Amino acid sequence: MTEIPPSHPRYRSLMTREGLVKGMKKGIVAEAGLIAHGRGEAFDYLIGERTLPGALIAEQVAAQTLKNARHPVISVNGNTAVLAPKEIIELAGLTGARIEVNLFHRTEERVGRIVSILKKAGAKEVLGEVPDARIPGLAHERGKCSSKGIWSADIILIPLEDGDRAQALKKMGRFVISIDLNPLSRTSRAADISIVDEVSRALKNMIEFLKSGKEPGIKDFDNRLYLGRIVDHIAQGLMGLYAKEESTGNPEESKE
Ligand code: ATP
Ligand code: MG
Repeated sequence: MTEIPPSHPRYRSLMTREGLVKGMKKGIVAEAGLIAHGRGEAFDYLIGERTLPGALIAEQVAAQTLKNARHPVISVNGNTAVLAPKEIIELAGLTGARIEVNLFHRTEERVGRIVSILKKAGAKEVLGEVPDARIPGLAHERGKCSSKGIWSADIILIPLEDGDRAQALKKMGRFVISIDLNPLSRTSRAADISIVDEVSRALKNMIEFLKSGKEPGIKDFDNRLYLGRIVDHIAQGLMGLYAKEESTGNPEESKE
């Protein structure tokens, strides 16, 4: 594996990629999971690789909502298990949520490996190895779930989920909280609370908020409004970038 010097300006991003590649070689991350990561990275670039103020509010409201749920469940896939295993477990502990491994590219081997990563990282119970229920409207392998988990949940947190499956969970009447860097994805558009942030940043913020014992910054959360603000932020950032160059016609002159 190539050595990445810590001085490299994209050190963190490159290390994350290496972690996912390793995870793929070990059969934890699906091959298509690497491509999904690339789509996420592109959007992270556009939002500036940081938590936007609107996303932080969504994270606070989501954390509180999970904590107040009757039966909250956190759905975990290979990418999430590699990127933020400790955070998943800590958030589950703080909210009383159950953890269920639920995969788009389901194989029993991959489920088993993800369960063991989470157990090694400290999880006491991880559901998903013995699916005994079905999410209606999804083809056989993709619809499998656990009756003690997703099937009986009232509120489900779905980091990095596919749009079809997010929509199917909505149709089942579940309250859905997504974590997805793409504010345009079908997942973000289907969810009740759409957290547009990188998964490990989002989970860390949710944990920190719950530990602070504070109340969310707002009372009435309007998901469409917050999603719209994120899209605005991206659009404004891009327009500003090119407007500067256009004003002089010389990119060099427009440097601050
Ligand atoms: P959809 O099916 O919802 O329309 P999609 O087909 O573009 O979206 P999927 O591959 O189904 O995407 O789901 C993966 C999603 O996870 C992508 O939208 C991507 O933006 C997002 N994603 C990837 N890596 C991360 C990450 N580290 N943190 C947050 N989101 C991520
Ligand atoms: Mg998809």
